[in-house]
Amino acid sequence: MNTVTLEEISALYEKYVMETYARADLLFIRGQGSYLYDSTGREYLDFAAGIAVCSLGHCHPAVTKAIQEQAAKLVHVSNLFLNEWQPRLAQKLVAHGFDGTCFFCNSGAEANEALIKLARKNGSEKGRCEIIVMNDSFHGRTLATLAATGRSKYRKGFSPDMPGFKFVNYNDVEAVRNAIDGKTAAVMLEPVQGEGGIIPADREYLKALRELCDENDIMLLFDEVQCGMGRTGSFFAWQSFGVEPDALSMAKALGNGYPIGAMIAKRKYSQVLTPGTHASTFGGTALASAAACAVIDAIDQEKVLDNVAKQSKVLMDGIAELAKKYPCIQGVRGKGLMIGAILDQPAGKILSILRGKGMIALSAGENVLRLVPPLNVSDEECRKALELLDSAFAELCAK
Ligand SMILES: *Cc1c(COP(=O)(O)O)cnc(C)c1O
Repeated sequence: MNTVTLEEISALYEKYVMETYARADLLFIRGQGSYLYDSTGREYLDFAAGIAVCSLGHCHPAVTKAIQEQAAKLVHVSNLFLNEWQPRLAQKLVAHGFDGTCFFCNSGAEANEALIKLARKNGSEKGRCEIIVMNDSFHGRTLATLAATGRSKYRKGFSPDMPGFKFVNYNDVEAVRNAIDGKTAAVMLEPVQGEGGIIPADREYLKALRELCDENDIMLLFDEVQCGMGRTGSFFAWQSFGVEPDALSMAKALGNGYPIGAMIAKRKYSQVLTPGTHASTFGGTALASAAACAVIDAIDQEKVLDNVAKQSKVLMDGIAELAKKYPCIQGVRGKGLMIGAILDQPAGKILSILRGKGMIALSAGENVLRLVPPLNVSDEECRKALELLDSAFAELCAK
């Protein structure tokens, strides 16, 4: 019997946890598949999935089993020694994408730091140290990734910015062409901008960037922290566009909630970061790597990517229908199960109405309702989500 209360835990937060988040007053105790259960036993349909993290749903049995077994066997030995799971994970990641090598860390920001260091080190002998990045991008909260983040409000108060980043507009190939000079080491972007408002890149734009980078001997870096791991319907987001980066970062869904991040670079870059040039104490522990291996196996065995394509259509079509009915929805965009409903107002109100009805979702950008459900979400759960959205928008638009 669970006796923990929201009041008790809220009071502890208030007194002892830094207020870096505007947290909703919900205390979740348990999760299973696409559902969360709060401290009063109430059920919520979870279309946030821990911010695109729990892509196989909460407490997926195969991942839970892998974590339990490995936790009882060996957790951590540092990267001064080998562990059996890290190279197996690297092999699986490479087998799902292009030939290359991996570096493991613990979060998205750290994976992007690795990309930035790889590009700088690679360009160092030629004096190429600058990276072209995008307006409205999000790459993380560490000082380097913050300096690469296009949403200036996140940087406010933390100046001076780390130098070496040049901002241009997303989906504008001429802007990149004009920004390139003798100092350019790389172009870095999200194939689908997440926090910035669920904005997919144009396929032609990415193709043109690839050519531009090849012509100028510049690295093309993809931040797949949110859009990778099946989210867009292919294992890596670049595969949905048919444009290979030179290196990419991933994190969020890689461990289905167990923290792990990774950078994967093409084999020709495998000698850029040599012993002593980059490191992470926890990167790719036996436990984290075993969890991620179980995630990848489940994605394959359960044909999760087929489900992404199917439910993406159901949800996008469903939201387009709702947009006809409710003028406060101005459109829908996204790729796979990374879906944004564009609103005529900030998403805060609809999120709170949805919570009241037992559904969790997210915002993105200034006025986008973001839906990133588990990738194995069922027909029934999508139908229920559309019903809940229908009744929530009826309430919102009536006001
Ligand atoms: C979430 C996110 C990050 C940062 O990841 P953390 O694990 O929070 O450091 C970086 N890039 C993108 C695209 C993200 O969505």
